[in-house]
Amino acid sequence: MNDIFATLESEVRSYSRTWPTVFDRARGSYLYDEDGTPYLDFFAGAGALNYGHNNPVLKKKLLEYLERDGVTHGLDQSTVAKRQFLETFQETVLKPRGLNYKIQFPGPTGTNSVESALKLARKITGRESIISFTNAFHGMTLGSLSVTGNSMKRGGAGIPLVHATPMPYDDYFDGQVPDFLYFEKMLEDSGSGLNEPAAVIVETLQGEGGINSSRPEWLRGLYELCQKHGMLMIVDDVQMGCGRTGPFFSFEEAGIQPDIVCLSKSIGGYGLPLALTLIKPEHDVWEPGEHNGTFRGNNPAFVTATEALRQYWSDDTLEKSTIAKGERVGAVLEEIASQHKGAVAKGRGLARGLGFEDTDVAGKVSKAAFDRKLLMETSGPSSEVLKIMPPLTVSDDELEQGLQIVRDSVQAVLA
Ligand SMILES: *Cc1c(COP(=O)(O)O)cnc(C)c1O
Repeated sequence: MNDIFATLESEVRSYSRTWPTVFDRARGSYLYDEDGTPYLDFFAGAGALNYGHNNPVLKKKLLEYLERDGVTHGLDQSTVAKRQFLETFQETVLKPRGLNYKIQFPGPTGTNSVESALKLARKITGRESIISFTNAFHGMTLGSLSVTGNSMKRGGAGIPLVHATPMPYDDYFDGQVPDFLYFEKMLEDSGSGLNEPAAVIVETLQGEGGINSSRPEWLRGLYELCQKHGMLMIVDDVQMGCGRTGPFFSFEEAGIQPDIVCLSKSIGGYGLPLALTLIKPEHDVWEPGEHNGTFRGNNPAFVTATEALRQYWSDDTLEKSTIAKGERVGAVLEEIASQHKGAVAKGRGLARGLGFEDTDVAGKVSKAAFDRKLLMETSGPSSEVLKIMPPLTVSDDELEQGLQIVRDSVQAVLA
């Protein structure tokens, strides 16, 4: 067989190895391969497809926009599509939450948003060093990698990753150590060797790092520590934002207002690339053009992003349904975990995981699930966590079908 993927595409490819088939169509919670076989998708584009594949409501707006020759490429020129997006974001996201942010379009990927946040934090504070957390994931460019934990990904940089210091994430010591004991001591001891940090960058729930959920009180403690020491707080909500944990922003539950927020993945709504960096107005010290990017004004993505906000964030229906569905997933994972020694249920909202002591198990379960036509990936430093992230629009029936496959797959591997 002439496998053009194996012969021509770089060895760097990875998901095509996890799921060895060729996908062709997609709709809602399903991907279909070229033979027409449906796969239930509990992966959701790593969080880029919160509203499902080819969501018909968004598609309609997109097709209308393309059909009338709406601007496709616009750098950061003012366009009608961008105006509608900004107005809708203000009305449906910022205002109801009492949030006040300026919006930067940094280039269409998550790592673009993280890079802009790091640059801006350094510019605002005149400090160099950034605090990151164990098992963090912030993207693949050098600044983002410097605040990412995974040693394999870091190794890819090929140069020293500097001006960043990792600190223990919530529960890193299994509750044995008071929160911020080490971090606070380092900040307060002029002999610690820690330069005064410009900012901390944090995920409220670490998706790639193993579905590690931080507690609201831990986030509040971190926020207070930031204020006390003049550090900016950057929340990387690239994967957990846009409702993945229930509320639009994953930090809402903690009642904090980070200085800078990174959004991408599902913000475009349709799986089209788009990223935002939200900046407290007093911190918006950019010079015009000081940070830019050719594709930062992805206008078709503005159109689908606007419609997604109107459709799903005008009220709290989606938020409530995500929390309810998440609790259902959590209950099933608890049930599975209780039947297998060393298994632990993790996560919140519809970002869920099943961790295994034996680091080979999650990968095997993912494979067994693929054989049963369910897509789930693994996460964590040793890929030891089965990661369960259906689209938020998943139906109750689809959810139950998928969960039964999760049960069967774990059973098949651990029986
Ligand atoms: C995916 C992700 C990124 C990087 O986004 P890209 O679009 O892949 O550059 C950054 N931070 C978090 C938390 C992510 O999940």
